Amino acid sequence: MAASAWSFALARLVGVLLAAALLGWLTGYLELSVITVLAGYLVLNFMRLHQLERWLKHRRTQEPPDFHGVWGDVVALVMRIYRRKQYHKQRIVQVFREFRRMTTAVPDGIVVLGPEREIQWFNRNAARLLALRRKVDFGQRIENLIRQPDFVRYLDRGDYAMPVVVRAVFDSEVHLALHLIAYGAGQRLLIVRDVTREIRLEAMRKDFVANASHELRSPLTVIAGYVDTLADDHGLDPSWRAPLEEMRRQADRMRAVVDDLIELSRLEASGAEAGEDAVDVGGMLSLLRREAMAQTERPREVSLKVESNNLLLGSEQELHSIFSNLITNAVKYTPPDGRVDIRWWADASGGHFSVSDTGVGIAREHLPRITERFYRVDPGRSRNTGGSGLGLSIVKHALQRHNATLQVESEDGRGSTFSCHFPARRVLARAAAAAV
Ligand code: ADP
Repeated sequence: MAASAWSFALARLVGVLLAAALLGWLTGYLELSVITVLAGYLVLNFMRLHQLERWLKHRRTQEPPDFHGVWGDVVALVMRIYRRKQYHKQRIVQVFREFRRMTTAVPDGIVVLGPEREIQWFNRNAARLLALRRKVDFGQRIENLIRQPDFVRYLDRGDYAMPVVVRAVFDSEVHLALHLIAYGAGQRLLIVRDVTREIRLEAMRKDFVANASHELRSPLTVIAGYVDTLADDHGLDPSWRAPLEEMRRQADRMRAVVDDLIELSRLEASGAEAGEDAVDVGGMLSLLRREAMAQTERPREVSLKVESNNLLLGSEQELHSIFSNLITNAVKYTPPDGRVDIRWWADASGGHFSVSDTGVGIAREHLPRITERFYRVDPGRSRNTGGSGLGLSIVKHALQRHNATLQVESEDGRGSTFSCHFPARRVLARAAAAAV
């Protein structure tokens, strides 16, 4: 407020008081004259205050009072504060409207969850995909509204790196991927995406691979049978021997690929978790070692150390496939003067299998990709050894179904160690098995 308005108001009051005092002194009513002027001044200020209060109460509809001096400055100041507030309010409303438009345009559903997993807000698509109701469902815990067991398990697990896929409540044909993202202080965002199309495409791909490999198997068996018969025919023209051997090798390779594709399809088609036969790992490994020793091309030494006679709960066929694939690889990728060491042991963390070799090893850059289908570090070498390029994919899938993990350590040119770690709940002491 300008100092000049105050000086002027003060000067005017003093001037009026002096004039009143002079008039009172001349007329002999000094006190009365001064009191009258002061009372008038007070009444005037009360009236201004009253007008100001009335305007402040109805400032949306009323024009501001036309004051001058100090009161005029007060009105101008109030107007300025009011306009600034209006401006910020409009900005916030505008930002909020933009945010609402944006979240409506996002094809995914978005739900904001509080620290107690209670719903604080959701967009239109979340309401549609999860059948949430505006207002009614605010404040409700999310697990009370999305009751699919897979989602409840996902919530409790606390590991939200990957989304979980559940069927929609309103249509079991619709698949939704639910992904939790933590932010702020205990806040979480639930992103909901309709993945029906992806799931359908994936199912079509799996069906196609499974059907195609089954269809290929029978003609291949017939062709391989004739090639075998011809190759074993001693009366055959010697010039046919080499091409027939090559045909036999290629037919074997094709059979290996088809068999592995069928095995992979079977693993993908079966449920999430493997069964729980009590498998004697030690016995299985000694058979596999013997098979490895029976090969004509193999490393000089293939050793086996069974340090635990505990049983492993799992699918016998799949465990055989895991160990067989890893041992076959170790034998295949190790030169005759090398060695392979197989080991089975159990401790508090679970059951463990490892196979180490002193073979060709795998360069660091290939390690993250070797479990991909048809990924080969050295395609020429792998094909020559009859590899399908699917062995490690099968191992990875089968291990996942046993809640187990695969660990690969390798040094290019020096050798590799492939280890499988099974959880403790899948390990069973032999005494306990006998008691059952
Ligand atoms: P393949 O049938 O070609 O052996 P796998 O899926 O079993 O297919 O293995 C993928 C690739 O990983 C192989 O082509 C090979 O390059 C590499 N690999 C697997 N095991 C070993 C090993 N013990 N030593 C060196 N390389 C290996």
